[in-house]
Amino acid sequence: MEKLSHFVVGDGTKCIGCKACEVACHASHSVNGITAGNIDTPVFPKLFVTRVEEVTVPVQCHHCEDAPCAQACLEKAIYFAGDKVLIDTDKCKACKDCLMACPFGAVELVSQFVNGEEVIQENLKKPRMYANKCDLCDTRKQGPICVEVCPKQALRLVDPHKEKKEKNRKAVATIVGMFKK
Ligand code: SF4
Ligand code: SF4
Repeated sequence: MEKLSHFVVGDGTKCIGCKACEVACHASHSVNGITAGNIDTPVFPKLFVTRVEEVTVPVQCHHCEDAPCAQACLEKAIYFAGDKVLIDTDKCKACKDCLMACPFGAVELVSQFVNGEEVIQENLKKPRMYANKCDLCDTRKQGPICVEVCPKQALRLVDPHKEKKEKNRKAVATIVGMFKK
């Protein structure tokens, strides 16, 4: 069977909306040794802490097997690398097609910053923008930093195959328990 992509999900019953995950995400993806304590640009996380009525929970990319964002991208800036859906920001033209296609709202368009300075397109007098979303901390060998920093353990990395098998086991255990009564 084809290996299904991993993805991070948030648990709305645990999240307190502190945004530690967003800040850590931004710091971890910044160059030049930026840490949460010396961020010199607006915070552009790759996950989005979202409040709905009484619940707060981060939303992020599910690394969809059919990747509607990639299919919508005319520039072919979104692609699969192994089991992750990634964005080539140099190819991105900020047309917003991926943003419209994503069922989770997992893509945001953000301004490009170099050395703490916003990059302005000279001819347009507008900031240069690109699509931004969760890359599962692609270059970080310990895995997604959001999972690590959450003080409430509200985020977890899902392996869909393992999750399914675990549910199968639980279902069998329940059935066996019923016959033993
Ligand atoms: S760090 Fe954890 S508790 Fe804080 S906003 Fe993120 S998911 Fe919620
Ligand atoms: S950005 Fe949205 S559409 Fe694209 S892979 Fe992630 S969740 Fe799926």
